[in-house]
Amino acid sequence: MNTKLKKIIIGAVIFVLGGLTFSYLTFSYGLSSYIQNQAMSMVESEGSIEDKIITFHQISTSDLKPKELVTPKEKANNLILLIADGMSLSQVTAYRLLNGGPNHRIALDKFPTTGIVLTHSTDAFITDSASSATAYSTGQKTKNGALGVDPENKNIENLTETLDKYGFVSSLIATSEITHATPAAFASHVESRRNSDEISKQMVNESVVTTFLAGGRNFFTPEESGGIRKDGINLLEEVKSSHIFLSHKDELSNFDLGQSGKVFGLFADEALRQQETPENHITEPEMKQMLDFAVSRSENYMDKGCKGFFIMAEGSQVDWAGHANNIGYLNREMADFDTAVEWALQYAKDNKDTLVVVTADHETGGLLIEPKTLFGYTGDEIKISFNTSKGFGSHTGVPVPVYAYGPGSENFSGTLDNTDLYRAMVAALDLENEQPSCVNN
Ligand SMILES: [Zn+2]
Repeated sequence: MNTKLKKIIIGAVIFVLGGLTFSYLTFSYGLSSYIQNQAMSMVESEGSIEDKIITFHQISTSDLKPKELVTPKEKANNLILLIADGMSLSQVTAYRLLNGGPNHRIALDKFPTTGIVLTHSTDAFITDSASSATAYSTGQKTKNGALGVDPENKNIENLTETLDKYGFVSSLIATSEITHATPAAFASHVESRRNSDEISKQMVNESVVTTFLAGGRNFFTPEESGGIRKDGINLLEEVKSSHIFLSHKDELSNFDLGQSGKVFGLFADEALRQQETPENHITEPEMKQMLDFAVSRSENYMDKGCKGFFIMAEGSQVDWAGHANNIGYLNREMADFDTAVEWALQYAKDNKDTLVVVTADHETGGLLIEPKTLFGYTGDEIKISFNTSKGFGSHTGVPVPVYAYGPGSENFSGTLDNTDLYRAMVAALDLENEQPSCVNN
């Protein structure tokens, strides 16, 4: 039997059975004609799924026009930027469903201002975390893989460097290793995100960031000492002499906040909560605890003369759950992130000069929420699945949400390019008069 005839017969059978079934299922809702039309269009379409894929080869970012921003009614002194790597609306929806159902409201749902963020880089419609984080940290698009540099590899001043000139104290938090793309875009300038030896060196020796909290001790230790550094430098030993080094979550709760000096908290050899090392999890903080610590420490710096603070905290492993095609992993990481979001939102409600911005860098995994059976909309079973590839899902080009609360939040609505998000953050902050750094380097 030729393929076309086979398709016609299979299509006709699906149409008749589907039509009968769904006429029956949806009769009481008056939807049968709508669904039959859908079935009809399915039967009538010709060609394979592959035939319908639209591809395009050229993207241009030179014609990008910056979004027109309003002058905020009030300026913010403090900015908490929370980034869930790999989170779009389907990840948010899956988390909401799995934790109380469609009428449940998670912390993200409690923000008064929401918008949509477009994420493409200069050389790819599908961004990676490095170029997207660079857009957030510098306001400029760059090529995939680049951190804090433009497409010609020229350094671009990042937000922590700019804010340092205006009297702000900055902290970076991640649940991955600290050298991973998102935190690295706020504290280093390298052509390739893979150059973690150089990223960590810049974080220790050049960055203005006062508090680093994440995993990643092995990225500071040479291979011959059990780490993964190729350059032979034992940067961990250097950190222990130049910084206040923390490696256990109890050191966060017991910390004397009166201590000034840069803090490096590295709570795991690689990422936090690694499945292979569950025995270590007892020493590893949750995102909320790290955020609480960074805020308390920032407040202390403000008591000593800093004008305000900036904190970037990343829920790094939402993305890794997407790459791993693992819904349970996604749910755990979203819970950790959303708990930190709840804490930040409450802090901003209690401290009216604080702007909280929550967003993502791209979607990962093509997460899909659909009826378990085709057209079974009224059934009580739904299917949540990753759809980019099995085993190692990729990033997708769908936009990501942004949520905002606090002074300057009015610019985070509508559709924004990821570089507009940087501009909206800068517009929200009081950057009037340059002054010497307020932290002791
Ligand atoms: Zn990412």
